[in-house]
Amino acid sequence: MGNIIDGKAFAEKLRAEITRKVAAIKEQHGVTPGLAVVLVGENPASQIYVRNKGKQTVECGMNSYEHKLPVETPQDELLDLISQLNNDPDVHGILVQLPLPDQIDSEAVLNAIDPDKDVDGFHLTNVGRLSIGADGIVPCTPLGAIMLLKDRLGDLKGKNAVVVGRSNIVGKPMAALLLQEHCTVTIAHSRTVDLPAVCRHADILVAAVGRPEMIKGDWIKPGATVIDVGINRIDGEAGKTKLVGDVEFSSASEVAGAITPVPGGVGPMTIAVLLHNAMQQACRINGIAVPD
Ligand code: NAP
Repeated sequence: MGNIIDGKAFAEKLRAEITRKVAAIKEQHGVTPGLAVVLVGENPASQIYVRNKGKQTVECGMNSYEHKLPVETPQDELLDLISQLNNDPDVHGILVQLPLPDQIDSEAVLNAIDPDKDVDGFHLTNVGRLSIGADGIVPCTPLGAIMLLKDRLGDLKGKNAVVVGRSNIVGKPMAALLLQEHCTVTIAHSRTVDLPAVCRHADILVAAVGRPEMIKGDWIKPGATVIDVGINRIDGEAGKTKLVGDVEFSSASEVAGAITPVPGGVGPMTIAVLLHNAMQQACRINGIAVPD
């Protein structure tokens, strides 16, 4: 189907580009970008993410440093580790895997990371930079979604964009990025009145809600581009589970001009963009221009 946006293929292309640029940085400047990932506890989903991040970091030619701490780690100990990593010249990116255990204040930890080593774009300094359009690090999932949109549509200027969801990690940064691209942006949320009507105005519809298949085909303007950020596990056939997005793909793909599937759409972009952010921070810290 020509209207499917293949995030998996795009992410592979992006990783190949990063691999080439990392090799150039090493050769021309003697710097090997290094990404440290910190995992507290043994959340199974987080363990898989961290493993995949480490593997893909190394495949791109960067150094990967993994720090696994027990679930009962006190906040002070985690902050000490962050401080060590902030001062380690071999580490250019620091990622603390969320969620953190209850005894730890996630915000305090994320804001303890040197903003120039923040690869998630969650540090208040980087949130501020994005808000005023200054150069900084942008959260991985929304940046991946923007890359897919620009690849498919080219210039986004003047388009009506509706973002459903206003979380700090997806909805708000997504809206800020669309605004930077000169879209006319509406942010919808759980108190929005007549959400289907709001969605029908969208040339670009971004769903970041966390409600399986909530957005139906008849909420979508014919020809619109639909980016489904949602990842929801629901019961499938024969006692198995399956992943679906926030958009009902069967009906939406009949109407949309282009649409990201789940899985295989926005999801694969997240780690690829994380690697992109780590490479960018290595360049920033060392005063190197990111290679073309
Ligand atoms: P979140 O923090 O739970 O935020 C959900 C947002 O959706 C909130 O702003 C909420 O509105 C809004 N919402 C909830 N019910 C709604 C309704 N009935 N109508 C309209 N809006 C509604 O979720 P998140 O972290 O942004 O994640 C959203 C989805 O993206 C999840 O499925 C998550 O798994 C997925 N995700 C994927 C990736 C990836 O692809 N790598 C990364 C991150 C997240 P209020 O603010 O009014 O409560």
